[in-house]
Amino acid sequence: MAEQMTPLLLTVNDAPVPFHASDGRTHLVYELAMTNFSSGDVVIRKLEILGNGAVLQTLDAAAVAQRLQPAGLRESTATLPKSTHALLFLNVSLAEGAQIPHELSHRIDIQASAAPPGHQNISESGATVTVDRQPVVEIAPPLRGERYISADSCCDAVRHTRAAMPIDGRAWISQRYAVDWEQLTANGAIYSGPREKLESYAIFGQPALAVADAVVASITDGAPEQTPGQYPTNISPAAADGNSVILDLGQHRYALYAHLQPGSIKVRPGDHVKLGQVLGLVGDSGNSVVPHLHFQVSNRPSSMASNGLPYEIREFQITGHVAGTEASDKTAAFDKSESDGTPLLVSPITPPETVKGALPLDQSIISFKTD
Ligand SMILES: [Zn+2]
Repeated sequence: MAEQMTPLLLTVNDAPVPFHASDGRTHLVYELAMTNFSSGDVVIRKLEILGNGAVLQTLDAAAVAQRLQPAGLRESTATLPKSTHALLFLNVSLAEGAQIPHELSHRIDIQASAAPPGHQNISESGATVTVDRQPVVEIAPPLRGERYISADSCCDAVRHTRAAMPIDGRAWISQRYAVDWEQLTANGAIYSGPREKLESYAIFGQPALAVADAVVASITDGAPEQTPGQYPTNISPAAADGNSVILDLGQHRYALYAHLQPGSIKVRPGDHVKLGQVLGLVGDSGNSVVPHLHFQVSNRPSSMASNGLPYEIREFQITGHVAGTEASDKTAAFDKSESDGTPLLVSPITPPETVKGALPLDQSIISFKTD
């Protein structure tokens, strides 16, 4: 084949690990890294994701504009300015039973303004990556009880999935599959009583549980509670998790529990813990606006410099979804309820749906059996 100028350089740094999600589908979540290696804007018109050479998913310019973020920015765009780097955050989902491709590749249609007239509309191919078929860790729930909300969970909510951080010379997304677990009160609100009172939140003081037999890799304690409803200021990245526990689940999987109550952590580094054992109590320490449990699994015993890995929770019940047609509507409804205490609008699922071996997707209302 003839050699071609490709103003956009494409790579995938972390191959996707396919996993089962609570929508019954298999998801491949990853980032396509792009560098505009030219002296003019590059507009992305279309991206095709190919699995074993066949088109799996097509993103038009509008879809790209929702998902492409220049390095260090939280705003997305479909235009990559000259000489810049960006990540395109992708979520490919396959129907149950569909074959998982061995290899992904990408075909991208761009307009490169620095190319000579008549040659500005270019189609490039690149970033061939082998899908990572490492086994997905199956875990028990990190909490017990009813009316939990899987806030900012996979795969299109932006706060965790797109939290790329440059540390020690590379970009890491340790929070790719993180969930901020919150809990509705009996009347369906995120808090009842004074907004700034920790006890107004149903989840405050719930035991955070070991999701497997594991070894305690590290703990952090001594961080004070924040005042709920106020975004903390001057929190260093190192203090963002507040009081936290990292469990070594074996085979390079580490589970992080963040924002626990000060003094509540019952384990010490090196302890062997049993599945279901209480590690500490859910609090509001660190970079936390309301009491919640931030839970994630990644490949190193570091809450930031590690690669976020999927996990599948053995069994849970979905009793509803946060109402709204679009992910952004759901987030808006959730954010409003979190800030003003109005009951969260929920679309109930009756009877509740029992899900086995899946990662709970964003904005699901979930019960974990209490037996
Ligand atoms: Zn979080």
